[in-house]
Amino acid sequence: MLELLFLLLPAAVIYGWVMGKHSAKKELLEQQLTINNAINSSVSLLLNEDQEQAFDRLIQYFDDTPSNIDNYLTLAKLFRKKGEIDKAIAIHEGLVKTDQITIPQYELEEIQLELAQDFLSAGMLERAQNTLTPLLTSQHASEALLGLLHIFEQTREWQAGVESYLAADAQLLSENCRQLVSHFYCEIGDAHDNYKSKKQAYKRALKVNRKSVRSLLALSKLYLIVNNKQKSRELVVTILDQEPSFAPALFNIAPECFVDEFEQTAWLFWLIKEKNIKSVTAHSQMTDYIVKERGIEAGRSYIIEHLQDQPSVRGFAKLIELEKEFFMSDPHFKQLQSLITRYIELKPLYECNSCGFTTNHFSWRCPACNNWQTIKPLAGLDGI
Ligand SMILES: [Zn+2]
Repeated sequence: MLELLFLLLPAAVIYGWVMGKHSAKKELLEQQLTINNAINSSVSLLLNEDQEQAFDRLIQYFDDTPSNIDNYLTLAKLFRKKGEIDKAIAIHEGLVKTDQITIPQYELEEIQLELAQDFLSAGMLERAQNTLTPLLTSQHASEALLGLLHIFEQTREWQAGVESYLAADAQLLSENCRQLVSHFYCEIGDAHDNYKSKKQAYKRALKVNRKSVRSLLALSKLYLIVNNKQKSRELVVTILDQEPSFAPALFNIAPECFVDEFEQTAWLFWLIKEKNIKSVTAHSQMTDYIVKERGIEAGRSYIIEHLQDQPSVRGFAKLIELEKEFFMSDPHFKQLQSLITRYIELKPLYECNSCGFTTNHFSWRCPACNNWQTIKPLAGLDGI
């Protein structure tokens, strides 16, 4: 009898294994169902724009099933989104300090970045800085440096930003980081009051970001101080090669780059013909030159041709100005001219490409959205 029982043992093992597999599968299915239910009900609440209750439901779900790190991280993100930063900090700090679970280094650094984000959201800049600084030499150097640069731009500590950049692993830094650092160097250059220090800072800005329009322009202006017109002109041309949209902003320094009016006009001609510059300021200046050399009729034809290709209020105002000679005695002419002038005065010169902020004063950082180099000369019908 006992032998018979032994004979049944393999069958019992197989039965146990099959049942165990079924039970594990059932457990997994139940877990999946719970997740699906939680997600489905949260999504329908979100669709019904009941964001608050949707968050509460998800948070409740994660609270009940804190089985893995991803759940904790999602929970912390939800808390941060809800504005409950202290809870997000508690979760992230708990994960960073825990010795209950072994978190791989790369993931641990990601949690530290999230923790720094919590501190930033809470306005705790110093704690964010202390969390990010050790990460400058990690695989997350780029993200850490970006975070630090955003802190230092708030406090206007340009030198501290540059020092963080120098401490970071240069190989790992993104293009975005380099662009930002070049603005930091330019801010340092702008604050200096002697030629040598300014030049050094702008050159460093250019070294960090070869395409930095700001440092090229700053250097171009600097070369004019020492009367190196050729070098200044070369840099202006480089800027236009990279950023033709900056053309109207360059016209205030361009005349000084040239030896005489003829050279300046030749440059203007090159911009229009070779670089296809649409700026009405350039075409207006060219019109003035044509009027001077070949008379009003030729100037009028030129600006009309330009207006047909690129209609603009300022171009139209130029045409009206040329018509003055023929219609000066007409009482309606003055009225028309003053209406156009008033319209132009009400229009801004620059616009932020990122947030749409408009201004008459150019700045390298948008005061509304805080983005760098997004303010550009206005283009289109009201363009300059
Ligand atoms: Zn903006």
